[in-house]
Amino acid sequence: MQIRRLKLSGFKSFVEPAELRIEPGLTGVVGPNGCGKSNLLEAIRWVMGEASPKSLRGGGMEDVIFAGTATRAPRDFAEVSMLVERAPSDNQPGGESEVTRRIERGAGSAYRLDGKDVRAKDVSLLFADAATGAHSPALVSQGRIGAIIAAKPTERRQMLEEAAGISGLHVRRKDAEQKLRATEANLQRLDELLSDQD
Ligand code: ATP
Repeated sequence: MQIRRLKLSGFKSFVEPAELRIEPGLTGVVGPNGCGKSNLLEAIRWVMGEASPKSLRGGGMEDVIFAGTATRAPRDFAEVSMLVERAPSDNQPGGESEVTRRIERGAGSAYRLDGKDVRAKDVSLLFADAATGAHSPALVSQGRIGAIIAAKPTERRQMLEEAAGISGLHVRRKDAEQKLRATEANLQRLDELLSDQD
């Protein structure tokens, strides 16, 4: 999966709508301290479904919304759109997809995939199948190397599963197990009804 374009509006220090095209090859982001380089990486992680404010250097999820400065009023929402090119996989054909996440103060966040409303789970599955995502080892933030060395075996296993692109299978397995349990309960209820009629 390759990131082609990133659009930000009201996200952290990106108060004005900004659009960044990412061309094939190596891309570097340079700028003075505090200009927003790390915020860009956080925008990528956030649109992929990051649910932990701590890993975005915030206290609560709404902290990603532009908080205002001495000269600019705060914003009511933050929105990030990421255009990605997907390689074909077993579950889906290749092609371009645009994922958008928007958060409004007091209203929580919502996702769109190619303009259609989707659940957070659909977005995380899209990235999990492509062996990437908010917790992917492909996104290395400050302090992460130390965290990997200090990780417990179960946490390290999760990282390896993300890298191998199989973490989506766990979500699907949980879904399938829930459906199986519901079906078993229905069958039992049916048996009870049938024996009542006898
Ligand atoms: P460094 O090179 O020091 O790591 P950087 O270029 O990575 O810096 P960031 O850490 O991405 O910079 O950006 C920090 C800036 O973003 C700070 O000026 C901070 O005030 C601003 N910022 C972060 N969150 C918000 C927010 N919610 N609203 C407004 N500004 C914010």
